[in-house]
Parts: sequence; C-alpha cells; structure tokens
Amino acid sequence: MRKQDGRKRKPSPVEQKCSPAKLLKKATEINLDPYPNYLRPTPDDCHAVRDDLLAFHGFPQQFAKYREQRLNTDENTSISPTDTVLDGLVSTILSQNTTDANSQRAFSSLKSALPTWEDVLAADSKCIEDAIRCGGLAPTKASCIKNMLNCLLEKRGKLCLEYLRDLSVDEIKTELSQFKGIGPKTVACVLMFNLQQDDFPVDTHIFQIAKAIGWVPIEADTKKTYVHLNKRIPNELKFDLNCLLFTHGKACRTCIKKEDNKQKKESGSCPLLNYAIADGGEEVPDNTIVPTMTPVGGVGDSSCIAEGVVRGYLSGGRGSVVMVFDCERGPSSAYLS
Ligand SMILES: [Zn+2]
Repeated sequence: MRKQDGRKRKPSPVEQKCSPAKLLKKATEINLDPYPNYLRPTPDDCHAVRDDLLAFHGFPQQFAKYREQRLNTDENTSISPTDTVLDGLVSTILSQNTTDANSQRAFSSLKSALPTWEDVLAADSKCIEDAIRCGGLAPTKASCIKNMLNCLLEKRGKLCLEYLRDLSVDEIKTELSQFKGIGPKTVACVLMFNLQQDDFPVDTHIFQIAKAIGWVPIEADTKKTYVHLNKRIPNELKFDLNCLLFTHGKACRTCIKKEDNKQKKESGSCPLLNYAIADGGEEVPDNTIVPTMTPVGGVGDSSCIAEGVVRGYLSGGRGSVVMVFDCERGPSSAYLS
C-alpha cells in the first residue's frame, strides 16, 4: 500500500533544529560529484568487473534475499519486503564495526528482550545496551537507536519509517540524515537493502578496492568515493556490483595489497588484478591511453587528475599525478606533485 501522506505537515521542534537552508545545503553537498572530470569507472568497467566477480564468486547467498525483493518490487505485484524499514535501519546501526554474525545476534537478542520498538523506546539505556552487547559498541549504538526512536516519535507520532518508501532517494537521504549518529553509509545501506533504491554504499572493503582499481583518484576519501561512484555507476548495476565488491573485499586481500603485485598477478587468484593500477608510477601500458580525451586542468589542479585517460593509472604513496594532455597525441608528460 502506497500512501502519499505527511508531506505538508507542520515542522516539529526536532526538524526546526535543522533549518531548511541547511538541509538543502546538505543534500546538495551529497549530490555534487567531487571528481566530475574523472571519467572512471565507465559503464563498461562496471559491467566487466560485475561479470568477472560473478563468474568468480557467484551471487553471494548473504544478499540473495534482498535481490529477490528487488526483482519482485514492481508496480504490478503486492509482494512486500519481510523486514520493516525501521528494522532495517536498526540492523544497519547494529552492523557498524562488527561482523555480520555478531550484528545479527545483537538484533535477535534486542528483539527477544524488547519485542516492539515502543518497548525499546521505553526501556532504560542500560537494558538496551545489555541486549545488544554481543555486537560491540553497545553504549554508542544504544544511544543512537534510542535517540532515533525518540526523534521519530516526536516527528511522525509513531515508530514507523514505512513512509520513506514513497519518497525519492534525495528526500530519504535528507530525512534519515536528520537523526544523530546516522551517517551516509547507514543511509545508503537502508536505501539499497530495505528500500530497494539504486544506491551504492561505500564500506572500507569497497573503498579499498575502488582505489586499487583506479575508480577514484588516489587521494579520495570514503565520502568523495561514495558520491563519485554513485554518479558513475549505472543504476541498474549498483546493487549487484555492490554485493559482489563487498563480498570480494572481505574474502580477498590480494587486489588491495600494494606490495608483491607482480607475484600475486602470476598466481591468478584474484580477477580484479587485471584491473589493478600500477604501483608507484611504473608500468603504465601504452595501449590503455584513450586518444580523444580533452584536457581539463593544469599541474597542481587536483580536479584534473587522471580524467580516466589511463587504465593503469600512475599512482602510489608519493602524491598525485598530473597528466599534461595534448588532444592530438595523448598525454605528453606526467608529474608527481
Ligand atoms: Zn581480489
């Protein structure tokens, strides 16, 4: 059932803490690609990595249920996801900085100690902490959950997030970001797993792989990587690619490790080594230069770095690389800045 409700409500005191101008600024910041001229990954890159990882791992069982839900989310079907959005949000909060097994245990333990979200809200923090202790960071997570439930009740009058299913990705981001302790990664996971939206969360594994295969400039942080990859990866590939890269990142350290790349390459154990960028500016294969790129910046302008012209992009711990680009002949020189 999809209802259009609550769009024209009066802002509660909770919302007033965050002004509309500030919220808009936040949403805009989330949406601006920090590397608009960095043209990787291309749709072809995304397809190739998705296919290689799928052939290597198969689709990860852990995420099969969510994949099924996505395939069933269709205007003509009434199959509804088994978990509520609020369940999904709390599960995601509990999954921070711990293993999947521990976070699932923490969620089950919370549900058995305090079966409804009203029970959780009414409970002492200590009681919530005890219930989720096996998932680690219990005081922080308990306070985040309780604060979120408090704000939600104040704002919506009930402990339910199903209304998010009717909002756009940007609106959902704005709504969820208002809760203290709920960061972009948590929001992205809820969008992808619980709301069947096309979003691409960046965890530490995906971040490391994205850098190792040159999908973001070497100086990128997780926030910028998240925004850039969400702009570059075609929507229809986001879910599968995310599940596969996450699974691969957990299982394989080979493609992330910088040292011994040559040796590891020979072992042929990781399909992503074919995409790994060269270390320390060595071995940039000539045939990977795309001759039709246009120049976009000069030395020292970090926004012009890489531009996706070279697959085996010059990189390494020493700093950024700037290509001086001649449209007719390709890059004429490179500097380490
Ligand atoms: Zn690997």
